[in-house]
Amino acid sequence: MINLLLIDDSEDELFLLEDELVQGGLSLEIQRVDNEQDMKSALASAIKWDIALVDYVMPDFTAERALEILKETKKDIPVIVVSGQASEEIAVLVMRLGARDYISKYSRFRLIPSIQREMESCKRRKKQHKFKKQLRQTEQKLAAVAEVAHDAIIIVKDNYIIEFWNHSAERIFAYKKQEVLGKNILDIIVPAHFTHIFRMVSEKLFSTGKITSRYKAFETKALKKGKIEFPVEVSLSSVKINNKWLAIGILRDISERHELEKKLRQLATHDTLTGLFNRREIILRLKQEMIRFNRYHSPITIFFIDIDHFKNINDKYGHQTGDETLIDCAHRMRSLMRKNDIVGRYGGEEFLIILPETPINKSLELAERLRKNIAESSTIKESSTTKESSTKHKKDIPDYTISIGIAELNDDQMTLDSLINHADKAMYQAKQTGRNKICIDSMGKKHD
Ligand code: GH3
Ligand code: MG
Ligand code: MG
Repeated sequence: MINLLLIDDSEDELFLLEDELVQGGLSLEIQRVDNEQDMKSALASAIKWDIALVDYVMPDFTAERALEILKETKKDIPVIVVSGQASEEIAVLVMRLGARDYISKYSRFRLIPSIQREMESCKRRKKQHKFKKQLRQTEQKLAAVAEVAHDAIIIVKDNYIIEFWNHSAERIFAYKKQEVLGKNILDIIVPAHFTHIFRMVSEKLFSTGKITSRYKAFETKALKKGKIEFPVEVSLSSVKINNKWLAIGILRDISERHELEKKLRQLATHDTLTGLFNRREIILRLKQEMIRFNRYHSPITIFFIDIDHFKNINDKYGHQTGDETLIDCAHRMRSLMRKNDIVGRYGGEEFLIILPETPINKSLELAERLRKNIAESSTIKESSTTKESSTKHKKDIPDYTISIGIAELNDDQMTLDSLINHADKAMYQAKQTGRNKICIDSMGKKHD
């Protein structure tokens, strides 16, 4: 059903028109008005007007005014002006005022097709309008989401120019929008040593839209203001707009997570009291060294070290002093051994040192240096008034000595347990034969 508003002074025209249109197959409801007041009330009514026909010549009303009123309503009602005369001038005038068509009495046959066409195009316009409105709303929603997102959202054009920079990007990178929009991303957040790989990934994305790690976040480094490098987790996406690929990056600052992971790793692999590798880690390292031995056959020596009469220290000076003695011993071992030697706390007051690529004879000098440093530091402390290095002083802890058992891995068939047992046995022998000593596996050879 078509709702047609007829703006015409003639009642006859209404009947004529109704007849003509119904004959033409249109199903319609017509309301006729012939003055400004009635026209306004008709437009303000609940009726949804599909089309308006305006008679060009009316005694008390003008088509120009009617068109003006229709314009003022801001409603998209297609208007066709019908006139008794065929005038190009009038046609131009009314079209300029917003009419969609002008039909003279000589071409009335055009009326039905014109109504149908105008209604169709009005429908299309309305659809488009609705679509544009929805698009605007979607854009607004997306912009709001991007602004509240906790991660940085950055959009980059194919010439590396930053096009979008959300609120979190401002917080994470310490650059305000206005400082970076229109700038080259390579100059802002990409560390120099990542430029090459960044370009490689980007070139592929900008030319094909393809991303190797789409839907998969990866970790890398970025720069914040002041050229401060920090770890980020990046998710990449691409979108084609106006036939050009844009890169969308979602970046998360993972500095805290990295710190936490580092702490957890440290906790899992290190002894909290001495800071040396813990038992689990030192055994793992020994396993790795043994695998390497099986491949390259470069000898490995291990030291099994036990503090002498440690129980006495605890009993006499208290547990706290016992702990400090353990820390002192650990510190001396770490500073006297070589960089590649691996030092760990095996248990209570027992330590294990792995000396990769070191045969037993070459290790003896190091063992002796260690034994001597610990045993003689008290003498130095008492006899010297000059300032000594911390490895020579035992600050506020009693004198103590260590016994060292040495074993060498020189056989493919030797297991980890048996290697440790050999060193343990040698250490036991050092205990048996007087402590503050170094003994070598099975041979029971003393070295002090
Ligand atoms: P030996 O010369 O034969 O090795 O005698 P020892 O007294 O050192 O031997 P023992 O194994 O009897 O004593 C080890 C002591 O180490 C017993 C235990 O209470 C103490 N201990 C183990 N872990 C710790 C620790 O973390 N802190 C302190 N203060 N003492 C510890
Ligand atoms: Mg012990
Ligand atoms: Mg002991």
